[in-house]
Amino acid sequence: MKEANFYEIFDKDKKIVKCNLCPQYCYIQEGMEGTCAVRKNIDGKLYSLVYGKMKGAQIDPIEKKPLFHFYPESDIFSFCTVGCNMKCLFCQNFTTSQVSKGVEGIISGENVSPKEIVEIAKKHGCKSIAMTYNEPTIFFEYAYDTCVEAKKEGLKTVFVSNGYITKKAIDKIAPVLDAINIDLKGFTNKYYQKICGAQLQPVLDAIKYYYEKGVFMEITTLIIPGENDSDDELKQIAEFIASISKDIPWHISRFHPDYKMLNKNLTPINTLSKAYDIGGKAKLKYIYVGNVQGNKFENTICPKCNETLIKRQGYHIFDINIINNKCKFCNTKINGIWH
Ligand code: SF4
Ligand code: SF4
Repeated sequence: MKEANFYEIFDKDKKIVKCNLCPQYCYIQEGMEGTCAVRKNIDGKLYSLVYGKMKGAQIDPIEKKPLFHFYPESDIFSFCTVGCNMKCLFCQNFTTSQVSKGVEGIISGENVSPKEIVEIAKKHGCKSIAMTYNEPTIFFEYAYDTCVEAKKEGLKTVFVSNGYITKKAIDKIAPVLDAINIDLKGFTNKYYQKICGAQLQPVLDAIKYYYEKGVFMEITTLIIPGENDSDDELKQIAEFIASISKDIPWHISRFHPDYKMLNKNLTPINTLSKAYDIGGKAKLKYIYVGNVQGNKFENTICPKCNETLIKRQGYHIFDINIINNKCKFCNTKINGIWH
């Protein structure tokens, strides 16, 4: 447990605090927790209940985050706590993201300090550390200290995030965060409210702000049949990304039924192809289709000469034709942080 960053006293006499870490902006009474259920008001002070409480960890290929333009082929030590500031009905990690909520309210995890995380990552030859599986924003203090320790040892740091974070918090994390994959889950407030328990605009603001702060970025959209798969919505997503930079890689991800969305079908391949074309019309340079084994949209293609720059199959890489950040064939600069 550690005293939280980004909170203010709202009512001193009644011991009510307001958390400013994420756009839920929870007002929290004494003895209660915020929406994420891992930040608790104890005697008028706000505490992170998950500081140093690692719920899960494993070594992943970085392509699994997904990050396709950031040290390809490297291993990334990935860990999480419990809790989340959203409640997506399709969450594949609901056993960790939602377990701290409701009557059971379980806070669990192994005691592992930020220094120990860095030691483990180094011992296993990982190039970087990812805070992932649940939302890293809600374990901000643990994530921040881990990033600081990682920097001391020359490791890179990565968030896999829903982008539900305030500008103040981005100001603090950005200087020690190398890369982020942000979910842009849809493009209507209705979708964010109904499916995720959140709002759209703060996610758009965070994407822009992380980019302005110079954190290397890729974006992922999970396409759910009948929910966020209209031409219009996909077009708005693609055009929004392009309005920030056409160099940002966009991962279009196939939906698999999970958690509270077991009644939905897999995303049809046609829909994924349609989204790919819409991204192309928005002039996005790097578009990928994920969660479909062996598809041709996993490769990185040079936006100028159309040669294959990185050939992928699942998380395996067969060829890299990028030299000094440029296409080996036509010398065009390729956005990314390469070896
Ligand atoms: S981080 Fe948690 S407590 Fe703070 S505003 Fe967000 S949901 Fe509420
Ligand atoms: S934001 Fe991610 S971790 Fe949180 S509920 Fe949604 S899918 Fe799960």
